[in-house]
Amino acid sequence: MNAAIVTVGSELLRGDGLDTNSQWLSRRLEGLGYAVRLHLSCLDDEADIAAMLEVAASHAEVVLVTGGLGPTQDDRTRAAVARWLGVEVRLDEDELAHIEALFARFGRAMSPSNRRQAELPLGASALRNEVGTAPAFQAERAGTRVFVLPGVPREVYWLWDRHLRPALLAGGAQRPRAERSFRTVGIGESRLAEALEPVEARAGIEVRYAAEEREGTVRVTLLHDEQREVHAAWLAAQELIGRHIAARGSDRLAESVVAELCAAGRTLTTSESCTGGRVASRLVEVPGASVVFERGLVTYSNEAKSDLLGIDPALIAEHGAVSEEVARAMALGARRAGRSDLGLGITGIAGPGGGTPDKPVGTVHLAVAWSDDPACVVHLHARYPGTRTLVQTRASAGGLKLVLDALQRSQEESP
Ligand code: AMP
Ligand code: MG
Repeated sequence: MNAAIVTVGSELLRGDGLDTNSQWLSRRLEGLGYAVRLHLSCLDDEADIAAMLEVAASHAEVVLVTGGLGPTQDDRTRAAVARWLGVEVRLDEDELAHIEALFARFGRAMSPSNRRQAELPLGASALRNEVGTAPAFQAERAGTRVFVLPGVPREVYWLWDRHLRPALLAGGAQRPRAERSFRTVGIGESRLAEALEPVEARAGIEVRYAAEEREGTVRVTLLHDEQREVHAAWLAAQELIGRHIAARGSDRLAESVVAELCAAGRTLTTSESCTGGRVASRLVEVPGASVVFERGLVTYSNEAKSDLLGIDPALIAEHGAVSEEVARAMALGARRAGRSDLGLGITGIAGPGGGTPDKPVGTVHLAVAWSDDPACVVHLHARYPGTRTLVQTRASAGGLKLVLDALQRSQEESP
């Protein structure tokens, strides 16, 4: 079953407003098993809206429209839908009574223009809106069901839950496909797709990739009509790229780190140079992080690394601040400074300046220690591509992933 979404609002096309309704509604429609074929956005113009409806209806059995149901003359959606249906608008007495009651409840005077909001295309049925004054409605033409909603996102969400979801469930949506998601770190989308070719080749399996630039992760979703096929694909994916998998299900990377630390009963202290506290910031976004996150040190200068982490200035002088030796010393020093079970150190060259032939921009050394023994440290020498911000984001993702690796190593070694 195909669906299409039409968003109406001149502000969306002028660049003043962002169409978030389409994304939100698409997710829900997909969740019910609908294939969303089109997103269309247009001005508050009656002819344009009717034209969009024509296109949408030629591609989909279900069309969702948002926006343009306000009380003013430039809200044209009601008239446009009526035009497309080939009917007049009429005042819906029930809806008028409801709007009057809403105004009375809030002690506000109702203006004549608000009466217009109770006008619906003839034959349409109202979808009672308890959270705003614009009534939503649904109508049908030649096998296409159209649901018309106000633009205010809060009202869209409420109306979806109350009216659309039940109606669309009952309307014969297919059983949603089984799916399983996970997130990867340290491997780009194209290499990931190459590595997962054997999974994509499995009959009926669809693999979706979504690079999450702000997180430095890639989200992978496996889909199939049958749950057991999704499970088999998941096992195959783990075989192929298991060491890059950093979070399962809908968990974000930092959520996965906090959950794993909680499960292991371990605490963490971070010391960050080039990432300036991004790892700490991502950790404290997760509710409950205080149970496992002890402290975060931003040890940007060489002096900070010596003062706060007890690193010998001679070590920095010998190897340079961006080196495996210093990253390892930072991890051990952080662990000691925070009296925690694990310590993380990140030091690198985020750019755009500061690179050298043997340490180009994007060079980052990361280390996590889980004991005072220098043998109990995992180290990663990475070279992250991209701008300063991207290097910092990717390095913070790399650091969080390395905490997961260290936890696993420490548990393997002393179960
Ligand atoms: P309207 O129902 O057209 O009067 O829209 C009311 C308000 O909802 C607008 O001023 C926008 O702020 C917001 N809005 C409208 N359309 C969208 C959309 N597609 N996505 C997110 N917000 C929207
Ligand atoms: Mg509008």
